[in-house]
Amino acid sequence: MKLFEVYSLLPFEPVKGEGSWIWDSTENKYLDLYGGHAVISIGHQHRYQVQAMKEQLDKLTFYSNSVQNHLQEQLAEKLGKVSGYDTYNLFLVSSGAEANENALKLASFVTGRKKVIAFKKSFHGRTSGAVAVTDNPKINSPFNTGHEVVFVPLNDSAAFDAAIDNQTAAVIIEGIQGVAGIHVPSNTFLQHLEKKCKENGALLILDEVQSGYGRSGKFFAHQYADIHPDAITIAKGMGNGFPIGGVLINPDYKPFAGMLGTTFGGSHLACVAALAVLEVIERQNLILNAQTIGSYLIEQLKTMNFSPSVRGSGLMIGFDVPEDLKNLRNDLISKHNIMTGEAKPNVIRLLPSLALSKQEADIFLQAMIQQLNPVAVA
Ligand code: PLP
Repeated sequence: MKLFEVYSLLPFEPVKGEGSWIWDSTENKYLDLYGGHAVISIGHQHRYQVQAMKEQLDKLTFYSNSVQNHLQEQLAEKLGKVSGYDTYNLFLVSSGAEANENALKLASFVTGRKKVIAFKKSFHGRTSGAVAVTDNPKINSPFNTGHEVVFVPLNDSAAFDAAIDNQTAAVIIEGIQGVAGIHVPSNTFLQHLEKKCKENGALLILDEVQSGYGRSGKFFAHQYADIHPDAITIAKGMGNGFPIGGVLINPDYKPFAGMLGTTFGGSHLACVAALAVLEVIERQNLILNAQTIGSYLIEQLKTMNFSPSVRGSGLMIGFDVPEDLKNLRNDLISKHNIMTGEAKPNVIRLLPSLALSKQEADIFLQAMIQQLNPVAVA
């Protein structure tokens, strides 16, 4: 059997990782500023997490959600404390799309409605509802298009006001748009959405799958706007590479048996992986580190010749690559052993581990200076 080839692969195979570094099969070492698509939060192969997972592997990896699992309760309590959402309830799943799918379903159950407002250039995943609220017709099959979705430009309050009504079940928005190339909703826009959702009886869903877990320099990116969404979805950084996701749900919304469900969500091993991530985030003060190193990177990148396009928050940073540097991502890999993310067309995305050090950030900045010469503006 061969693989179903849906991915464009880089000519590179990592076989080992540690902290912000990965090695290929020929022992070449790379600085990882991509984090396997924003997944690596506390750093590759973090000793504390590896040890905790090894211990759990020797006890019990998995049992179904039809039995008690105190690790899920421990994880909910810890997540509530670290995120500031200790009054919310947690539903555990295994991926970002599944988290969004369940948040949308919850909103529809609660309101009895099915219309959803999403935003231009959004990305929320590949399952049926999640892809329907994703603004990319290429990845929506005819089967996915049966949902009632209205797309509105980001940060356009007038267009949003024209779309929301008392038939709207939910408004779904990324804390910071990632796949689109790093676009930040303004605080006033998020506050406006919260107010209008309340007025119209719609649920506000914050997709923090990529921007959450400290990446933005706060636990959740929407916390800069001081809003409290009805549901918050998480995944990527939550397990630092072990698949786990979740939905944080406002306690006003009551569950009934069977309302939501999943086989793998919240397995013993997944909970231990996620608990270790939160402990390390707290103990190593990684949210503050993301804020400090992220601000330093943004400030330094703003002195370079694509300065106006630098955007983002914490360690979720993007900038447009000028036409004459369009091979920048490949050059950073082949000439400087630095892995970055990208967005189409011609955007570099930085999504490193939250433990990235200043010295590691400087390695990247030096490589950028070399690449920009002679086009860099003095
Ligand atoms: N939501 C956002 C904002 C994402 O960036 C992604 C993945 O990139 C998803 C949802 C989907 O997550 P997953 O691939 O784990 O289903």
